[in-house]
Amino acid sequence: VTASRDPAPLHHRNRHTGRYDFAKLTAASPELAAFVHVSPRGEPTIDFAEPAAVTALNRALLRLHYGVTQWDLPRGALCPPIPSRADYLHYVADLLTETAGGGAHAAPPRGPGVRLLDIGTGASCIYPILGTKEYGWRFVATELDPVSISWAQRLLDVDDALRRDVELRRQTSAKQVFRGVIHPGETFAACVCNPPFHASPSEAAAGTARKHTNLHGFRSPKPQLNFGGRSNELWCEGGEVGFVRRMIAESAAMPELCRWFTTLVSKRESLAPLEHALARAHAAEIRIIPMSAGQKKTRVLAWRFRSPSAAT
Ligand code: SAH
Repeated sequence: VTASRDPAPLHHRNRHTGRYDFAKLTAASPELAAFVHVSPRGEPTIDFAEPAAVTALNRALLRLHYGVTQWDLPRGALCPPIPSRADYLHYVADLLTETAGGGAHAAPPRGPGVRLLDIGTGASCIYPILGTKEYGWRFVATELDPVSISWAQRLLDVDDALRRDVELRRQTSAKQVFRGVIHPGETFAACVCNPPFHASPSEAAAGTARKHTNLHGFRSPKPQLNFGGRSNELWCEGGEVGFVRRMIAESAAMPELCRWFTTLVSKRESLAPLEHALARAHAAEIRIIPMSAGQKKTRVLAWRFRSPSAAT
């Protein structure tokens, strides 16, 4: 794994389409320098399988491109790749542009009048941080894990704008998505979600080991210690199909909640059962937006019930 990525698949507004500029990144965040080495191709890079290195890279990216001065993760937490997390938000911005009646070249809606809902924000609080810094949106962000939510709150507390624009809410039931965290009559421009995708803790551990094997070409003896993502962040009953099915069912019961309901779907085979569930729920419109997350292909599944012209 090197710093070079195929630049084509990222969204055209993504700030990370080129190669990482390690000179600028280490200037913004000097502690990154300790993790940078020269690849066999003669380019500066970091070990993307090393959570401490990826965390340092993220801290530098957030500082250099988004003006976030302090960011860190607890040991073992899921370490989000910034370029692909940003990509998702840019595609959501495009959906909102369309809904606002803008053509293909219209500017995406910005500012605190646009409220988003992030389901399962994680300790990193990554979507609210990127969304407020990139578009000036406001967020309500939910999280099941109490350790993650208190970490996320610490990240918000050190930044006046983030503290003002992002509200965290604790979900207490693993089987609920919107229920229990939404106030009566509340509405959002869109929800975003990166759901837990494995169906059991052992499947999550195996997936983590596989991911590590792919990066290194060999199996690590302690993959869960070497690769970010505690297994309880990565699994739920029914895996990602189970999670998104519950999300679809709840969305159909509160169709006014979001103008666009969206979620990442990381497994291609999950799409057919989810499209079926959306058809049964009588979604007015369904979109599948292909995206790349590093070497991996993923996609955003988006649906809506409300008419796009209805008032917010
Ligand atoms: N948004 C972050 C984290 C995604 S991991 C990122 O993209 O990197 C999925 C997260 O969802 C975990 O933090 C997990 O604790 C949380 N989660 C699982 N079930 C949930 C539920 N029912 N409601 C809210 N959060 C949930």
